[in-house]
This record gives sequence, structure tokens and C-alpha cells, in this order.
Amino acid sequence: MKTILITGGAGFLGSHLCERLVSDQTSVVCVDNYFTGSKANIRHLLGHSNFEVIRHDVTFPLYIEVDEIFNMACPASPTHYQYDPVQTTKTSVHGAINMLGLAKRVKAKILQASTSEVYGDPEVHPQTEDYWGRVNPIGIRSCYDEGKRCAETLFFDYWRQHQLQIKVARIFNTYGPRMHPNDGRVVSNFIVQALRGEDITIYGDGAQTRSFCYVTDLVEGLIKLMNTSQEVTGPINLGNPTEMTMLELAERVIALSGSQSKLVFKPLPQDDPKQRKPDITVAKASLDWAPKVSLDDGLKETIQYFRHLFDNHLA
Ligand code: NAD
Ligand code: UDP
Ligand code: UDP
Repeated sequence: MKTILITGGAGFLGSHLCERLVSDQTSVVCVDNYFTGSKANIRHLLGHSNFEVIRHDVTFPLYIEVDEIFNMACPASPTHYQYDPVQTTKTSVHGAINMLGLAKRVKAKILQASTSEVYGDPEVHPQTEDYWGRVNPIGIRSCYDEGKRCAETLFFDYWRQHQLQIKVARIFNTYGPRMHPNDGRVVSNFIVQALRGEDITIYGDGAQTRSFCYVTDLVEGLIKLMNTSQEVTGPINLGNPTEMTMLELAERVIALSGSQSKLVFKPLPQDDPKQRKPDITVAKASLDWAPKVSLDDGLKETIQYFRHLFDNHLA
């Protein structure tokens, strides 16, 4: 039976990946230090005989036997990754070294959850994988952006130097159930504010754009990437190319939740990218993958999830 290690497995994306992969043919080991993840995200899997959890921080070595590794551990929302920026860089860099060292020892295939943030505030639009990016090395987002860039470097050096089987996914903004209600990301913020009847906080003038992918589509892309043949290393963009402004997103959330909330404008955070949209030509060609879930359908599911949390006093 194949054993798959998922670091950050108790987080938003990691828990959906655990859920998708645990089966009679596959054993899943979830590793997490619960910094932003939670036991609640994986509680429903604990009874499964092929699912196990280890509380562990990936900045420390880990000696186990596995066949594949999804390296998802890292806080992903600006609020959380800026809370302890030194730890964020350590998680990306030391975490990558440890997981690559583990992959090298046990000859496992290893996938890195990289990010569209490696493109920074981009001059190329939509972003293609061959664009090197425009990242501030010393700003408040740098701990995340540069940590992820260094992790990509480590992956490609282990590939060149030690012939590791690597896969690098550049994930664009993804949303869905199990996002942390207080993690500060735009989709969860807007939905939480709409459901509580609070003002919807637009940073800057709201004209900046993002492209939002629903979680099940993203998880499908990650699994397809892991299952590609050895010569496919990436980096490969995974995301939904439907681009919109934050004002448009706020309007959709208000309409779909039936909220009376009003918009308020707050200062734009430093180095906030002005536009972002993935070019997914490579993913379509080499993974036969494209997102299927529309923004409205994905938002409805996510609104329902947060409504359930609030109605049952779970958050
Ligand atoms: P998340 O914060 O919900 O999940 C991250 C998980 O990693 C949490 O469970 C957290 O407790 C765990 N973790 C953090 N530091 C750790 C450490 N040192 N050791 C062990 N576990 C640790 O975020 P997410 O949205 O699920 O993101 C998962 C991965 O995908 C991250 O690597 C993130 O950078 C990447 N990503 C996500 C998005 C997105 O839009 N969701 C976009 C691009 C990249
Ligand atoms: N490592 C790990 N688990 C393993 C093997 C290695 O956590 O099963 C860590 C260990 O801390 C090591 C790092 O991965 O320092 C990098 O390993 P590598 O073999 O590449 O280099 P080393 O530093 O051991 O020469
Ligand atoms: N944003 C916003 N209001 C919020 C939270 C975020 O207008 O309450 C904006 C933020 O400034 C950014 C965009 O929404 O331009 C996406 O932010 P998020 O933190 O979700 O992701 P990232 O900036 O990492 O893409």
C-alpha cells in the first residue's frame, strides 16, 4: 500500500487533500504543528484505519518511511504569515530542506505547494511560469514570498544534484470550506463580515484584481501533478483564470449571502499586488486539468460552511 505524507495536513488545503487521498489503497500521514490548522479540520478522518496524525514542526527533522510527500506546511494568509515572519521563512526554507532530505533518504516523490506570490507585484499579465517575478526582498510580504522562492530553488537543486523526483505547483488564490474565519484572507473576510452584518472592508480602492479557484478544483490539480511522469517537474500554475476586482467580489458575496452590509474603504497594505491571473496553458496541456467550479457555486458552498459554523457557535 502506498503511504503519502501531507505536511500542513490539518490546514485548509491540506485537510481537503487528506480527505481525497485516504482510501483502502492509500495510507495518509498528516503532519502539522496546528499553527493555523486545527484538529476540527481532520476530526472526521481520525476513525479511518489508513489515516494517522503526527504533531510535528517541519523546521525539525522527521524520520518516517513514505512513498510520496505533499509539502503544504506554511501559513498562507498575510495576517498569519506576518505574525511571526522569522518562523514563516524557517517553515518554508528549513521545512523544505528537511522534507527534501527525507525524500532523498526514502526515495519518495515530493510536491511543493508554491505560490503565485513568487511573481510578486507582476509586470507580466496573466502570469506565465517563465516569468521571474517582481518581489520586494525586504518588505512585510517577503518572509512568505522569498521563503517560497528559496524553497523552489532547493527543490530544483535537489532535483539537479540528487536526481529527486520533484513537482512544483504555483497555487493561485484558493478558497472554500475550512478557511480559518479569522485568517484575514479576502474571501473569508468578506463572507464573515456579510454574515455578521458588519461592514465589508475593501483595502485601497478595490480595483486590484485576483482570480479565485475553488478548493476541490485545486486539490484535483495537485493530485494530477503528483501523478505525472518523472520528467514533469513544474513549476506549473494551478488556479482559476477568472479575474475580478475586489469590489466585484464584494458585490457577489453580498448578493449571494443576502446581506445588508455596506462597503468601507481601508488603507491598502504595503506591496499588495495590483493584479493577478494565472496562465494555465501548461496545466491544461500536461495535466489535462482546468477548474470546473464557477465562482458563484464555490461562494455558495463557502457561505453555507461559515453559516453552519456561526449557527452552531463553532466559531
Ligand atoms: P493554512 O494556513 O490553512 O494551512 C497551513 C498548514 O500548515 C496549517 O495546518 C498549519 O498549522 C501548518 N503549519 C504551518 N507551519 C508549520 C510548521 N512549521 N510545521 C508543521 N505544520 C505547519 O493554509 P492553506 O491555504 O491551506 O495553504 C496550504 C499551502 O498552500 C501553504 O504552503 C500555502 O503557502 C500554499 N498556498 C495556498 C494558497 C491559497 O490560496 N490557499 C495559495 C498559494 C499557496
Ligand atoms: N532529514 C529528515 N529526515 C530524513 C532525512 C533527512 O528530516 O529522513 C533532514 C535532516 O535534518 C537533514 C536534512 O533533511 O539535515 C537534509 O538532508 P540531506 O540528506 O539532504 O543533507 P544532510 O544535511 O543530511 O547532509
Ligand atoms: N483584501 C480586501 N479586504 C480584506 C482582505 C483583503 O480588500 O478584508 C484585499 C487585499 O488587499 C488583496 C486582495 O484582497 O488585494 C486579496 O487578499 P488576500 O489576503 O486574500 O490574498 P493575497 O493578497 O495574498 O492574494
